[in-house]
Amino acid sequence: MSLLVVGSMAIDSVKTPFGEREEAVGGSATYFSVAASYFTDVRLVAVVGADFPADTLAFLEERKIDISGIERSAGETFRWRGEYGFDLNTAHTLDTQLNVFESFSPRLPDDFKDTGFVFLANIDPELQADVLGQANAPRLVACDTMNFWIEGKREELLKTLSMVDLVVINDAEARALSGEANIARAARRIREIGPRTLVVKQGEYGALLFHEGGVFSAPGLPIEDVCDPTGAGDSFAGGFMGHLAATGDLSEAGMRRAVVFGSVMASFNVESFSYDRMRALTSEEIDARYRAFSELAHFERL
Ligand code: AMP
Repeated sequence: MSLLVVGSMAIDSVKTPFGEREEAVGGSATYFSVAASYFTDVRLVAVVGADFPADTLAFLEERKIDISGIERSAGETFRWRGEYGFDLNTAHTLDTQLNVFESFSPRLPDDFKDTGFVFLANIDPELQADVLGQANAPRLVACDTMNFWIEGKREELLKTLSMVDLVVINDAEARALSGEANIARAARRIREIGPRTLVVKQGEYGALLFHEGGVFSAPGLPIEDVCDPTGAGDSFAGGFMGHLAATGDLSEAGMRRAVVFGSVMASFNVESFSYDRMRALTSEEIDARYRAFSELAHFERL
């Protein structure tokens, strides 16, 4: 089944202990759609300014991502500047310039309206709700968010969360959203807002899946060459939703496998700045890493 994403397309400036990159292409929808394109057909809704690199749009098309939902505006593209210390799990936002997002009103092309799987990537929660209102009864709706919106647009965000089936956020966001320091309690509170399922990403330590059936834990793969964690969360979501949309399997076992495919895509993404490492992955590379996750978490019960 096809997968629709709405989110940010950005020009990022990022500094990590291992280097820095000025004006690199980023954005939640960009990372998400590149990762998901290894699994299924992706339809992308976003806005870019006149300064957005044409070669990135050409690359997305090469990956067979439907970019007819990208609005090209005369203004400047959304910009984000962030920094990481040795704790790569925490991004410090230094600057956010909404630019073309200030006046963006997303419009779903008619042939996007019946998409079965919808991901509302990190973006203004009012825009997330707006897109959802234009979709015709999707089979699964999931969303992400971040502290910028949890603090700045809390009421709007709670409204969006009450309309989705599944939420994918990181542990710091889960704590900020719920007001609970304990992750299990935070998960329960967030599920009480509406979503039946919650995935909490824990950076290099892996991810937790909370739902009716209980909790599943996927490990983080210890990788030696971590370069830049920007976009790891969105790449995770791309692998996770991409696998669900490709298989249509929303069972407990299917969800667990999707969490691992999410972890696989995030693990590739952190090996480079921007989405460089995800430009040309082979299915053999993806499968090999999927097996590495399975071996890492495997143990024999006595
Ligand atoms: P992640 O590291 O997966 O949480 O997401 C990183 C991406 O989120 C970067 O490429 C940024 O351009 C984008 N981003 C940062 N702040 C925002 C925001 N307030 N709204 C939407 N996207 C954002």
